[in-house]
Amino acid sequence: MAVTEPAPAPPLAAHEGILRRQSLRESAARTYARSLPIVPVRARGLTIEGADGRRYLDCLSGAGTLALGHNHPVVLEAIKKVLDSGAPLHVLDLATPVKDAFVTELFSTLPREFADNARVQFCGPAGTDAVEAAFKLVRAATGRSGLLAFTGAYHGMTAGALAASGGAEDVRVTRLPFPQEYRCPFGIGGEAGARTAAHWTENLLDDPKSGTPAPAGMILEPVQGEGGVNPAPDGWMRRMREITETRSIPLIADEVQTGVGRTGAFWAVEHSGIVPDVMVLSKAIGGSLPLAVIVYRSELDTWQPGAHAGTFRGNQLAMAAGTATLAYVRENGLAERAGVLGGRMLASLRSLAADHPCVGDVRGRGLMIGVEIVDPEARPQGTGAEPPPDPVLAAAVQQECLSRGLIVELGGRYSTVVRLLPPLTLTDEQATAVVDRLADALAAAERSPHRRLPTGSLR
Ligand code: PMP
Repeated sequence: MAVTEPAPAPPLAAHEGILRRQSLRESAARTYARSLPIVPVRARGLTIEGADGRRYLDCLSGAGTLALGHNHPVVLEAIKKVLDSGAPLHVLDLATPVKDAFVTELFSTLPREFADNARVQFCGPAGTDAVEAAFKLVRAATGRSGLLAFTGAYHGMTAGALAASGGAEDVRVTRLPFPQEYRCPFGIGGEAGARTAAHWTENLLDDPKSGTPAPAGMILEPVQGEGGVNPAPDGWMRRMREITETRSIPLIADEVQTGVGRTGAFWAVEHSGIVPDVMVLSKAIGGSLPLAVIVYRSELDTWQPGAHAGTFRGNQLAMAAGTATLAYVRENGLAERAGVLGGRMLASLRSLAADHPCVGDVRGRGLMIGVEIVDPEARPQGTGAEPPPDPVLAAAVQQECLSRGLIVELGGRYSTVVRLLPPLTLTDEQATAVVDRLADALAAAERSPHRRLPTGSLR
């Protein structure tokens, strides 16, 4: 009996096949790939081109890694130079001319008072590994094991870094209030909120019955990134420095995301003028390639050889790309540029908020910007409190951005903060295009019927 062959399925566009195979073969734990179903095949500066031929303005920038955008000529040139030189690409932690140049360039960008008396440890290539190294370093140096960390923090996904991140539990980590202006944990905001947060911290450290394990260090982000773009007030940063210094608690600045000009200063600690004891650096320092280090005050260098080893600490291409990136940012004043342009973008976004009640807050520093999406109709009656976050609407805004060719990330407690991390090379015209597309996306998402979560469930 003749069997009728089923009609062949219409050929899938190549990018659809790739996306389909990804969803079949990759882990359920994949993240960005879920909300950004694109297949990048080419990229330059702010722009990514997908396999479907569509072009996108990339304000995710490899989660804040690409200070100079994609494939910047000075980065490509630096990589080619190493490749053409015949230098080994991987040398564990051995000395090389490429590494020597990287350390020299890195130290030249760091606050002088810090760099003049500092050591650097090359870590495994992720930010989280450098966070682990920082914890080991201060624990070895102080003989104490507790850690002080903040609500809303994000330090990475390995065990120690995760334990210090908000949302995790660990008996050795004491969680302290981060001074948020919007949704202030004390309900007062402003300077009074920051003062109260500092007072709380000081009180906890001095109260013999607070149950705080003796701290080996305090870790903070000068601007919380994944936590929803929360800039720490400069005065509060200085108070944290005083509080830790007078109690001989090493202060660890996690500048994995804020470093290399992102916030309008080369390093975000420069805004407050504090000198930390340890700086955790990754992302942009590798000029698009994986690289992570800690830099710390020499007196802390009491740990033993091998205390924090790892195979991949000698990526020569990352060091060369990083050197080129650091030098380019420094020579072209891109930190200052990020401050000016970021200020302008914040102002335009704030003026947008007047027309879009779902914009609860616009905040940031330099080119690290967040727009918090709320449900304005669910504002608690007569309380003056902020309306609850609206994760469904925020996800709709992200999708509307994508369909307008704009890639943004969501962050914050409930993934309701639309995050912009454009390259520092962003032009004025590109900045306008980004804000325009976001404005259109907000309007479209507001028009679209979206499912509301029960009021009050997110506070
Ligand atoms: N610290 C901060 C402040 C970060 O933003 C991140 C990553 N977003 C990390 C640490 C962890 O870096 P990685 O993802 O490279 O491990």
